[in-house]
Amino acid sequence: DLYGTARKNSAGMDLSVAADRERLSLAVAALDAGALTAGTIIAGDELGEGPGEARTSPADRARSIGTAWSAQAQHVDTAFAIARAAQPAWDALGGHGRARILRAMADELEAHREVLVAMCVREAGKTFADGVAEVREAADFCRYYAHLAERQFGGPETLKGPVGEVNQLSLHGRGVFVAISPWNFPLAIFTGQIAAALAAGNAVLAKPAEQTPLIAAAAVRLFQKAGLPVEVLHLLPGEGATVGAQLTAHPACAGVAFTGGTDTAWAINRTLAARPGPIIPFIAETGGLNAMFVDTTALKEQVIDDVMASAFGSAGQRCSALRILFAPKDTADALIDGIKGAMDELVLGDPADPRTDIGPVIDEEARAGLAAHLERLRAEAKVLHILEAPKGGSFFAPALAEIPSADFLPREVFGPVLHVVRYEPGRLAQAAAPLAAQGYGLTLGVHSRIEAFAEEVRQAVPAGNAYVNRSMIGAVVGVQPFGGEGLSGTGPKAGGPHALLRYALERAVSVNI
Ligand code: GLU
Repeated sequence: DLYGTARKNSAGMDLSVAADRERLSLAVAALDAGALTAGTIIAGDELGEGPGEARTSPADRARSIGTAWSAQAQHVDTAFAIARAAQPAWDALGGHGRARILRAMADELEAHREVLVAMCVREAGKTFADGVAEVREAADFCRYYAHLAERQFGGPETLKGPVGEVNQLSLHGRGVFVAISPWNFPLAIFTGQIAAALAAGNAVLAKPAEQTPLIAAAAVRLFQKAGLPVEVLHLLPGEGATVGAQLTAHPACAGVAFTGGTDTAWAINRTLAARPGPIIPFIAETGGLNAMFVDTTALKEQVIDDVMASAFGSAGQRCSALRILFAPKDTADALIDGIKGAMDELVLGDPADPRTDIGPVIDEEARAGLAAHLERLRAEAKVLHILEAPKGGSFFAPALAEIPSADFLPREVFGPVLHVVRYEPGRLAQAAAPLAAQGYGLTLGVHSRIEAFAEEVRQAVPAGNAYVNRSMIGAVVGVQPFGGEGLSGTGPKAGGPHALLRYALERAVSVNI
């Protein structure tokens, strides 16, 4: 049973319960009383040389949260050497042995839920609800990949063949995988990539996003606490252009798992192409130019709810987030009015306040990029509504704008900006064509009570994850396997039954008996 029907997703935490919110607030206060650190972690030793880099919170740049140290060139070589030596024993442990450790990691994540949420709040500017979802998803990845490890890596499978011959097929780790993860899911995707590579029998060198090394170091320490041999997972924090490039160019790198921007995926692809030695797999999950198509039969209140969650939840900093709403001419004004009204209800501000809906964007660079995009919308399109950004941190207020067509956005805009395109009912294919021509294919939303409409939209716009009459974010591990096509990624889908296969080698043995 590859789909694991007996498997349960992590329960999370009910934030409507005051005592639970209080526990999170206490965890934030406890975090504020100390200082976090993230050095290079090689075989369990945490190295930090020199003064390190002071980390501050996106919601308040005056708040110092800890110190991080980047990996040095020699650390990369050392980590590869240790990981390479340790990987065969890890592979030989088999799917069942590895699953035990991954499940223990899921338990550790849940046992440390409060402090991990507090770290997501302070280091990544996440709201409590988003922080809780991070821990849940990270635990889900560990348990789901444990389940796959048992089923797919539990030992050789005997295949049917001629009499007198035994044919067996087995899956193995490839060697040392490099995992490069994004800041927008600093715990869930960081842990998910590592768990997938480990489940398949690989050792891992993990490079977290330069914005979120502290959470990553905490996760690596939990893997060790869960019983993972320290030689099997190493943390190499630093910039993509230096540490990331060195990791992917290294001759001992046996595969790369990457989640981040499409431009970085191209850069990694070029590095891998230029690298001598074995040809290795590249698993990329990148950006999207995600649209939702609404027709005149859609339920307005439901559309507005789902648009708000999809476009502005997590400050729009999900690769799955809604960027372009295609509204039919007849009902577009009513929808826009409803969205403006709902925007006015949003609470912006400190993510450590449980009432906050929308926290900051990740850093000043992100804020400045969004501000430049807003200027372009003001000059060349029409800004319909914008809220007021709180002061003191990297805040960018949710904005609603009308654009003439999807061509107006040549690339993903990563933040809380929703664009509306009006289309003529009956001319859906023409309206969708410029979007499909962009070449992304991540998420797609449809709101309609007519099945044929949903089908028409799905034919017109390629997408790895289509959502009909619901929000288009928050894919659940094992329930909505997540990942795109085209400019949005290579697959296999994270949290899906085929996730581990590209992390693995397949070996067939035929014996004439
Ligand atoms: N899996 C997430 C979702 O469904 C998005 C992942 C990402 O932003 O990279 O919302």
